[in-house]
Amino acid sequence: MSAVPMQLKSHVAGRWQAGAGDAQPLRDATTGQVIAAASSAGIDFAAMLAHARQVGGPALCALTFHERAAVLKRLAQHLSGLKEEFYALSFATGATRADSWIDIDGGLGTLFAYASRGMRELPDGHVYVDGDTERLSKSGGFVGQHICTPLAGAAVHINAFNFPVWGMLEKLAPTLLAGVPAIVKPATATAYLTELVFRRIVESGLLPAGAVQLVCGGVGDLFDHLTGQDVVSFTGSASTAARLRTHPAVIAHAVRFIGETDSINCCVLGADAAPGTPEFDAFVREVAREMTAKAGQKCTAIRKALVPAAHADAAVQAIRAALAKVVIGDPRLEQVGMGPLAGLGQRSEVLARIAELAGEAQLVSDARNDFVGADRERGAFVAPTLLLCREPRAARAVHTVEAFGPVCTLMPYATPAEAIDYARRGEGSLVSSIFTADDALARELVLGLAPFHGRLLVVNRDCARESTGHGSPLPGLVHGGPGRAGGGEEMGGLRGVLHYMQRTALQGSPQTLSAVTGRWLRGAAERQDSVHPFRRAFGELEIGTTLRSAEREVTLEDIERFAALTGDTFYAHMDEEAARRNPLFGGRVAHGYFLISAAAGLFVDPPYGPVLANYGLERLRFAKPVRPGDRIKVRLTCKSKSLRAGKGYGEVSWDTEITNQDGDVVASYDVLTMVSADPA
Ligand code: NAP
Repeated sequence: MSAVPMQLKSHVAGRWQAGAGDAQPLRDATTGQVIAAASSAGIDFAAMLAHARQVGGPALCALTFHERAAVLKRLAQHLSGLKEEFYALSFATGATRADSWIDIDGGLGTLFAYASRGMRELPDGHVYVDGDTERLSKSGGFVGQHICTPLAGAAVHINAFNFPVWGMLEKLAPTLLAGVPAIVKPATATAYLTELVFRRIVESGLLPAGAVQLVCGGVGDLFDHLTGQDVVSFTGSASTAARLRTHPAVIAHAVRFIGETDSINCCVLGADAAPGTPEFDAFVREVAREMTAKAGQKCTAIRKALVPAAHADAAVQAIRAALAKVVIGDPRLEQVGMGPLAGLGQRSEVLARIAELAGEAQLVSDARNDFVGADRERGAFVAPTLLLCREPRAARAVHTVEAFGPVCTLMPYATPAEAIDYARRGEGSLVSSIFTADDALARELVLGLAPFHGRLLVVNRDCARESTGHGSPLPGLVHGGPGRAGGGEEMGGLRGVLHYMQRTALQGSPQTLSAVTGRWLRGAAERQDSVHPFRRAFGELEIGTTLRSAEREVTLEDIERFAALTGDTFYAHMDEEAARRNPLFGGRVAHGYFLISAAAGLFVDPPYGPVLANYGLERLRFAKPVRPGDRIKVRLTCKSKSLRAGKGYGEVSWDTEITNQDGDVVASYDVLTMVSADPA
């Protein structure tokens, strides 16, 4: 425990600062021993925000998306090398090693995932181009394009106590990738673990000055100094969220507020999933796992299990049996599957919520106090608690009270419509799961549940083994939910990055917009080069460089030879009489795939050179039929470039149009190539 300083410090404008005055003692969840203390008294929060805006923001914005992604990757690698230290301290939060894996490796995995997405899905530049160009004039000389740029403020991240590492990293990764500095405020109860990881981040020296700051303790008057360029991303209770999102400064400046709050998540067992089916078994495993992982202190944990009335008793028995096998106690012991809650305050809170639920439901799990190697009084233990509510229609608490611990209420339903009604009574949730092998039922439930949920998981025998589980938010998928769940969204791949950027509709000439975005738009100037563009190494290629090919006639013989070679003898290419009856063609036409092959024949430069591979086509459209006797030619323009750092090549996309003898576009697409960084 030597890594834990008695008094946690905040990291303010590049310096570590201890709070003045009395600090709040923080205790080990299992032993009750005081292991740290936190106070943020005396911190100048206005100066923190100013430092983020004036130092951190400009430093991050000086980097391209790829450079920021590379920093995230190096940071993830660096922290991965230190993670045993984090695991050791994480026991104090009450987490078992398996629980800590979700928090620590889950957090690092999210950093890695965003680093990789940043490289693959964002440009090596400063502007994110959102969607296609909008043509706004007849000639195409005036166009519109949405662009996204980083907000010029700070992100204030307020996190819950249950995931001190993941909670910080899943918010930091998209924020830093966007180019926005962050002020991290962990929940005080487990801030000692966040502080340790944050300390290692600072020591790594990988992040630019001002990119991240930390508050251990309360946020003081920070909210008074927020502006419309700042973003608050909050995870915690609905009541705190309500207080913060109605703060006068948040309202006055329309500060973006991302809220992840309480959630009465449910799972639904399909009527087909009778005892003995793989779906029933998967359902029982999932309910027991969700109740006991992190001792049920997951925002995504299953709080309501909806079961067809005919299977209710069997489900109770099976879940009880699964729970009875879980060893409860000191999370440091290897055999322990469930530790205590994060603290005694949480225990009182959860016991009070159980009492509320018990007013409408009967307790059906075994009473337990066989806590291994632990002090029953000073450790914050709560036994897994399964309740059965036989009359959910008349009940209220079971649909609206979240006991943030190892607690789940099972309730029978008669019809899918009734199951949907019960799920909706949660008034907006993060996630629901559906266990059925009946796809029609799955569809009915998904359509009924989707408006009330941020994520839905459908489990059947085909995917149960590979399922990532009910309770796992994933970097590529949206985490958040409507209504009670806070109305926010996090992660979801690039969607999570865009929360920290401003989308702007930009209008102007294609040439100007190309210069701004770093991506060639149709109508912008074409750059002629005396050298074939395929002879240029990645670094020598300039956006807008264009090759205009010679012309080629498409003959009937071409069409027949292509049909013979490929076996594609579709009537529109081969049967004049049938093709004439086709209202679109009115006669034989060339294969579209022949056209793009012939186009390649017109634009490639055959000898060995820097172009390593064509790895695909994007946005391919065949706009007009090409008939025997038509003459085609190609325009190929370097549209965008993205260096794959350290790989020796970059990706280049080429805006390509095939036109006919009348100048009409017959096909358009982007050719995707890998181009060597070295001249051939
Ligand atoms: P909480 O009391 O609302 O605390 C959440 C965070 O808000 C903590 O960092 C807390 O700091 C801070 N906070 C509290 N009052 C504040 C104020 N006036 N100004 C600024 N910050 C303030 O929630 P909790 O009881 O710790 O967390 C449990 C709840 O979080 C559960 O209801 C659970 O559903 C929800 N949760 C939701 C998600 C999700 O993703 N949707 C994830 C995890 C948890 P201090 O610790 O210093 O008070």
